[in-house]
Amino acid sequence: MGGTFDPIHHGHLVAASEVQSWFDLDEVVFVPTGEPYQKAEREVSTAEHRYLMTVIATASNPRFTVSRVDVDRDGPTYTVDTLTDLHAQHPDADLYFITGADALSNILTWRDSEELFALAEFVGCTRPGYAMDASTLDGMPHDRVTIVEIPALAISSTDCRERTGRGEPVWYLVPDGVVQYISKHGLYARAHLDTTTRE
Ligand code: ATP
Ligand code: MG
Repeated sequence: MGGTFDPIHHGHLVAASEVQSWFDLDEVVFVPTGEPYQKAEREVSTAEHRYLMTVIATASNPRFTVSRVDVDRDGPTYTVDTLTDLHAQHPDADLYFITGADALSNILTWRDSEELFALAEFVGCTRPGYAMDASTLDGMPHDRVTIVEIPALAISSTDCRERTGRGEPVWYLVPDGVVQYISKHGLYARAHLDTTTRE
């Protein structure tokens, strides 16, 4: 499961858990992005902060791990590189790439999109606010994409950052350890807010 995870929240964790169970996966590998090229318009927390919050959030689940492949690769993160690196590390594994509905509908704009479907099966998780219908899958090989219905959690990292910037709580939207990490490091203080998406 790739993501910016700025911060990781319970929407990510529930989606990962549901997909693990649905496909009986041995492991869900969370892969925080390095420098997210499609989010260049806002200041993203350092990869190290995002990696550590992801470790904290997933530590208690024996099937959840966190990979540094994207954090440690220089330059912008492309999913084709993520999947190529994970395939090299686990040559015998069948890879599934878990995304939310919003990310899935953009997939054909990603670099080397036709190669992506050869490297992994794609799992599109339903997400409140992002409708999915048959047209979402237009242009994708239907045997390589599965839609999984996730209990709806209307949580986004953007909202968590904005709430923190306004001094509002993020308790129960993100794991307790992540609340404490955000506060300890002063992440998402008002100066760092992305004000283009709200107000
Ligand atoms: P931002 O608001 O910064 O874009 P986000 O909440 O969308 O953050 P990302 O790190 O961008 O989080 O998402 C990583 C992946 O998790 C994406 O594929 C996204 O679609 C999916 N995802 C995020 N939140 C949810 C949710 N509440 N339910 C289902 N999928 C989600
Ligand atoms: Mg997002």
